[in-house]
Amino acid sequence: MAVDSLLSSPLGPPACEKDAKALQFIEEMTRNADAVQENVLAQILARNAHTEYLKGFNLHGATDRETFKSKIPMVTYEDLQPLIQRIADGDRSPILSANPVSEFLTSSGTSAGERKLMPTIKEELDRRQLLYSLLMPVMNLYVKGLDKGKGLYFLFTKSETKTPGGLLARPVLTSYYKSDHFKTRPYDPYNVYTSPNEAILCSDSFQSMYTQMLCGLYEREQVLRVGAVFASGLLRAIRFLQLNWQELANDIRTGTLNRKITDPSIKECMTRVVKPDPNLANFISIECEKENWEGIITRIWPNTKYLDVIVTGAMAQYIPTLDYYSCGLPKACTMYASSECYFGLNLNPMCKPAQVSYTIMPNMAYFEFLPHEPNSASSKLIDLADVEIGKEYELVITTYAGLCRYRVGDILRVTGFHNSAPQFQFVRRKNVLLSIDSDKTDESELQAAVENASLVLRGFNTSVVEYTSYAETKNIPGHYVIYWELLVKDSVNLPSDQVLEQCCLAMEESLNSVYRQCRVADNSIGALEIRLVKNGTFEELMDYAISRGASINQYKVPRCVSFTPIMELLDSRVVSTHFSPSLPHWTQERRR
Ligand code: AMP
Repeated sequence: MAVDSLLSSPLGPPACEKDAKALQFIEEMTRNADAVQENVLAQILARNAHTEYLKGFNLHGATDRETFKSKIPMVTYEDLQPLIQRIADGDRSPILSANPVSEFLTSSGTSAGERKLMPTIKEELDRRQLLYSLLMPVMNLYVKGLDKGKGLYFLFTKSETKTPGGLLARPVLTSYYKSDHFKTRPYDPYNVYTSPNEAILCSDSFQSMYTQMLCGLYEREQVLRVGAVFASGLLRAIRFLQLNWQELANDIRTGTLNRKITDPSIKECMTRVVKPDPNLANFISIECEKENWEGIITRIWPNTKYLDVIVTGAMAQYIPTLDYYSCGLPKACTMYASSECYFGLNLNPMCKPAQVSYTIMPNMAYFEFLPHEPNSASSKLIDLADVEIGKEYELVITTYAGLCRYRVGDILRVTGFHNSAPQFQFVRRKNVLLSIDSDKTDESELQAAVENASLVLRGFNTSVVEYTSYAETKNIPGHYVIYWELLVKDSVNLPSDQVLEQCCLAMEESLNSVYRQCRVADNSIGALEIRLVKNGTFEELMDYAISRGASINQYKVPRCVSFTPIMELLDSRVVSTHFSPSLPHWTQERRR
């Protein structure tokens, strides 16, 4: 029930006193966006004034915007890489941040084929926690009664490494789930998960997923929302159920825990969950045995009010599949964040995916925006409060952890304002051609992979004349499809099916480490496929583009396709298909 005395929030009546405070905080921050930003910048500059990085730009203690803008350059990860490497190698002097670097967060964005390493400081955890604490108060405005049940969230920690200097390097969510902020979070009736911490914290992905699914099945009637961070993660969970429901149902029938679960802390906590429930086991068997899995989420978890998954950006490709499995349940995209910084939240989380806009919270960092217009070469950065509705910008951040005017690589479009804080649609990540899960493959990486693979063809006097690619996500896990047109000069010495399979593997070997980790450790990407097309297919593709108005002089082969008529043209010209016969190499260790 809403707290009547606190009806004051312009966002709507808060569900409880705690929510009222959170909503009030959002109001305060967004009403004073520009002043908060000015203050954040001054705090960051004052605190980091004596870092090696800032000293190099002679700010002489200035903390105002004008001096900052006139003296500090905009940078990319590659510009900072030598400094970051020194920190990773053990230099503890204040290089980027006055506060000690507590660990590195490994981004899914890569540089030279390896995950980017983002230095972070302890207090950033508080900032992330603060943003998380705003999500349910907003959701409670739109969905009532979430305190009457639980959330089935598939959350995972990944293994971590140490840098040569001894600092931990791990993904931001692993860092968060392993923190006390998460592990010893106070009980909140609006935020109860079916997954025990022990399962979330187990870095063996099978054991973790199995346990989380088992708990979700036991508590099927209590589940009010089903989620994962990204849409691809939730679909992986559904695929897992498809592959493992017999074993899960057997555990439920007999009240025993699968022998594959060996993690002692999971085994211990599951003694409180696992009990024989033949009726539930029968129900699960009957539902999962059916050929047709349409609506499986709503069949197994009938009280689910919404799916909590990000379906914006590259994840939009999964919307039809999620709709199929959930009978079109609403899909809530609640927040927008990265390893570098958590940015903001969606104040209208039950809106349609195409309408999702994130409100950047001005207290998280100092935000600037590089106009992203086709014919503009302007490099003048715009402040958060000054962006214009309808325009697109690249996000540039200055963080407490010491990134200054750092280009995140995301392109955002302004859709409106909440008070004086702008709201942004996530348009896309710059330079990403292919993405299935958290992998991001750009044009030059794909080009290098094709070049590497074509070396395999040399002995057959054959070369790749043209190629393009496609992210195939009809089946889970999805996989990369590369269309190749070959020039075969020696028709008696044709490359065999086996040789073409080796080409698939050679491509996978040269893709970046996030791709290979998804393939090997997470099993979230399937084997890469090469589809050979008939000679002349790419010329037909050009004819098609020209017939639709492309200029013949400027025509370039698209290196990634998704437009249905083009896919149909390509697929109708396929002469053979080949899949990678094994997994590429991946180890936790970085290549450099
Ligand atoms: P990482 O550094 O691996 O955590 O990845 C962060 C990136 O993921 C962001 O810079 C975005 O490109 C993408 N991302 C994060 N949240 C969202 C979202 N809500 N919608 C679309 N893309 C997102």
